[in-house]
Amino acid sequence: MFHIKENNTIKYITSDIFDDGNFIHAFSTRISGNDKNFALMDKSNPQDIHIKENRQKFCSIFNIDPKSLVIPEQTHSSNIKIIKDNIPQLQNTDGIIITTPGITGMLFFADCTPVILYSKRHKTYALIHAGWKGTAASISAKAVRIMKSELNINPSEIKAAIGACISKCCFEINEDIKEKLNNSLNKDCSQTIFYEKNKKIFADLKAINKLQLEEEGIKDIDIMEYCSVCQNDLFFSYRKENSTAKRHAILAQMK
Ligand SMILES: [Zn+2]
Repeated sequence: MFHIKENNTIKYITSDIFDDGNFIHAFSTRISGNDKNFALMDKSNPQDIHIKENRQKFCSIFNIDPKSLVIPEQTHSSNIKIIKDNIPQLQNTDGIIITTPGITGMLFFADCTPVILYSKRHKTYALIHAGWKGTAASISAKAVRIMKSELNINPSEIKAAIGACISKCCFEINEDIKEKLNNSLNKDCSQTIFYEKNKKIFADLKAINKLQLEEEGIKDIDIMEYCSVCQNDLFFSYRKENSTAKRHAILAQMK
């Protein structure tokens, strides 16, 4: 179950599925007081002083030092890096798996699907950027497979939270993308992940990522109902806002 909270004028959302006071995690919204332009990233103006301020403000809610932020360069790939004590090169990276307390992962979104994975026993978490391309390349399933093969984590011990994204009500796709998304799963689930409305096809990215995680053995999955297009007052939407460069974020850290 998700809870909307407000602190330091920032609205953010957490899931109670992780049930561990030592695991900090949050899905930001775009809301900061009356400032409707609260963004944690603006690709059109990355040096914008407000972006730095917003990140500091967001981090301060959780007593996180912004210097501990680890931010990969997202490219809609399915590349995933494991971060232990040393931070590797993070170009062309859309998933990070962090095993070290004190390292804060942050990823950015506007319509793409945010996924957080966490194993309390193994003190390991993953942050995933799953847009349609990453989802089609099974990035969520791949993250679980890496946690299993490289870190010996049994998927039944991993819990997952899937955040707001462009949802089945609004994510219109073509036949080509439909086929790619369907192929990201081992079984044919087209009856439950695609919808037709007025001869248009819509895809449920959250359901596809959930099924990928389930196919890998994850049982506890929390899914946020919000759609970034329908709830555009709460989230940035690349489609609805004419390819906006602004992004909301997810953040996580183990104490
Ligand atoms: Zn919608």
